[in-house]
Amino acid sequence: MTTLTYGPITACQICGSNDLRSVLFLGYLPPVNTMQTIGTAHDKQEWFPAEILRCPECSLVQLGYAADPNVLFPPDYPYRSGTTRILRENFADLQREAKALLGLTNKDLIIDIGSNDGTLLKNFLDGGNRVLGVEPSLNAKLAEDMGVETKMTFFGSSVVEPILKSHGKAKVITAANVFAHIHGLDGIMKSIVALLEDDGVFISESHYLLDLLTTVQYDTIYHEHLRHYSVTSLRFLLERYGLTIFHAKRIPTHGGSIRVYASKSKRAVNASVAAMLKEEEEAGLQGDAWVKPFRDRVLHSKLALYELLTKIKSSGKRIYAISAPSRASTLVNYVGLDDGIIDCVLEIQGSKKIGKYMPGRHIPVLDEAKLYQDQPEYALLLSWHIGAELMPNLKKRGFKGDFIVPLPEPRIMKNASFI
Ligand SMILES: [Zn+2]
Repeated sequence: MTTLTYGPITACQICGSNDLRSVLFLGYLPPVNTMQTIGTAHDKQEWFPAEILRCPECSLVQLGYAADPNVLFPPDYPYRSGTTRILRENFADLQREAKALLGLTNKDLIIDIGSNDGTLLKNFLDGGNRVLGVEPSLNAKLAEDMGVETKMTFFGSSVVEPILKSHGKAKVITAANVFAHIHGLDGIMKSIVALLEDDGVFISESHYLLDLLTTVQYDTIYHEHLRHYSVTSLRFLLERYGLTIFHAKRIPTHGGSIRVYASKSKRAVNASVAAMLKEEEEAGLQGDAWVKPFRDRVLHSKLALYELLTKIKSSGKRIYAISAPSRASTLVNYVGLDDGIIDCVLEIQGSKKIGKYMPGRHIPVLDEAKLYQDQPEYALLLSWHIGAELMPNLKKRGFKGDFIVPLPEPRIMKNASFI
């Protein structure tokens, strides 16, 4: 077993090419979940370079720096997949689709990598399958409370033998919003292949490069996201380990993702695969023609947001931001927003982020109740990718001001639009 090293990435994470070319450098950013407690003295803070690179060989768009996962994913990692409606619905859909496509039976084992609070596996458990989660954070305990058996550890070669002994091979291995996060891709792929039955299927869900580009989602660039996949780059990766993509589709999670099915054995390939590859080819993802226009759009979007917010602030109005997802950390740090521009960030009651500062900033994260008490003129949606779900809810709960949607192009949405 090779020991993983952390630091600058100088060889493509899929094909090993050293010819990596810069797409965009956002500067240095703090880890998105390192949040200091309000009222305590400011401690020192780690910052890592945030640059994405493109490999001309296999088309993978990837981060230029691998930070230590013990820093990125501490045991008290606050992200929970069960708290967002779109995610819950998506996981229910994944189970229905997998069952229909694969004809799962009660004896089939489903393993979920980075199983978080067990939301995905619960669907398979209720569907009658055997399930096993692998999750390093304390969210594993929430999964266990729901009856989802979970190994509280990082997924990798060290879990393969113990799982084979205790559970046997898996019919399905899922990796939802985690397959782009794990450093040491070779070890992960070998472990997946070793754990899959001969006719087993690996299902991954990842944020989609094409959506990142078309809707300028520079805010999804942070250290947890080591790779920004397309079907093209995923196919290159999976085929190196003997897995063939037989179905792929776009799904709405995280502002646009892809769900990709890959099989160890020969299966009929759905027309969806060729259709998505063609779309990517037409978008020029295999070349570099997209790079400069994308970089220009990011810069324009950043400047326009800064201008919009400072104009509002200069006129004496208040801007409260709504929710502090990981991507909000990139947005506030890259755009250079501070408590002089945004008064506070609000999270729903019970959030572990309340009582902390935004990473690398002095903007306090407070209870959402403050929005209805104070009625600021504007609410900036840092979870803009679920704005359609968020805005009517905030309005229903009594918010009277207007919304600011920061991306792809910053704009004000009048509250009246949601009546
Ligand atoms: Zn490559």
